[in-house]
Amino acid sequence: MTAMVPAIYFDGRSTHATRVDAWRDGDTLRWRGADGTQEWSAPWITIEPSARVTGVPFTLHVRDGGHLQIDHDALPADWFPRHHLIERVVDRLERRWTVALAGIAVVVASLFVLFEFGLPWAADRVSAHLPRAVEQAMGKQSLDALEGRLLMPTALPAERQSHLQAVFRHFVGGMPGVPGVRLAFYGSKALGANAFALPGGTIVFTDALAEAVPDDDAFIAVMAHELGHQANHHMLRQVLRSSGVLIVASMLMGDVTSMGGVAAGIPMFLVDSHYSRGFEEDADRFAFRALASQGIDPEAFVHAMQALERAHPELKGQELRYASSHPLTDERIARAHEASLQFRAAKATADARAGR
Ligand SMILES: [Zn+2]
Repeated sequence: MTAMVPAIYFDGRSTHATRVDAWRDGDTLRWRGADGTQEWSAPWITIEPSARVTGVPFTLHVRDGGHLQIDHDALPADWFPRHHLIERVVDRLERRWTVALAGIAVVVASLFVLFEFGLPWAADRVSAHLPRAVEQAMGKQSLDALEGRLLMPTALPAERQSHLQAVFRHFVGGMPGVPGVRLAFYGSKALGANAFALPGGTIVFTDALAEAVPDDDAFIAVMAHELGHQANHHMLRQVLRSSGVLIVASMLMGDVTSMGGVAAGIPMFLVDSHYSRGFEEDADRFAFRALASQGIDPEAFVHAMQALERAHPELKGQELRYASSHPLTDERIARAHEASLQFRAAKATADARAGR
């Protein structure tokens, strides 16, 4: 005979509860009244044990609708060992509220990972695999939405425009592997001195920025930076990242109809947001390399930004949008200087070789 287990017996016919002691006797479960006057038994295999739930008495259903209630912690571990392995695991977990807290933490962490990494990852995947024609349609759609609202016809003299266009074409012509890009000038009070690369290849340059750049090299430095955004699909990626899980997911599934939502997000991005720090660093690196490869000192980018600030000291906020959406941090200036030093060193070496 194994250990006695205190239990409460309901016979299934009345609501009367009888205090009993239960024990296992081979293939039989036996229980008797605490006063010893009555005894019952049931074949072990006919007993239906309830699931174990922490804090809830364990129930053994026996024939004729009767059942025994045993305190959750009093049930011998070997009574129904084969039964509900998962239950036992769950039971053990339920007993530990630290595990419950950890469960909540895992859910919160999963959501964080989804938004912090999953969404950018999916957005980048969509951007990288979007057919060029779709990207171009998206760029055109957003340009149509901008024209007449944020973007007005340019007031730059035709001569200045064609000069800058020629400088730009010459620069891009020296960069193999750059897909079709075009430069478009616009006047914009709302966007101020600004430049941005739309999906599909259009780089918008505002009159205010064209007037602020001190020389062709500074102009090209800004363009090179924008080409960096262009080459890495930054506009599309940034807008997708901020457009939420649903749009990104549907585009990931190949549903291009959500493209309209993305195109509509671009004007909002231009007015309200700026690129992530990582994107700016990527575009800077791209620009420094592109400039150096064509014999232009990367210091030109710093000149452009500084000239922009000098040219409009009275203008805060909007007019300095290029500076504010492309924050000119000390770090970025330092990197530009570093790229410039490398460029000069390489140039000096090349000049020395050529002179020999
Ligand atoms: Zn930028």
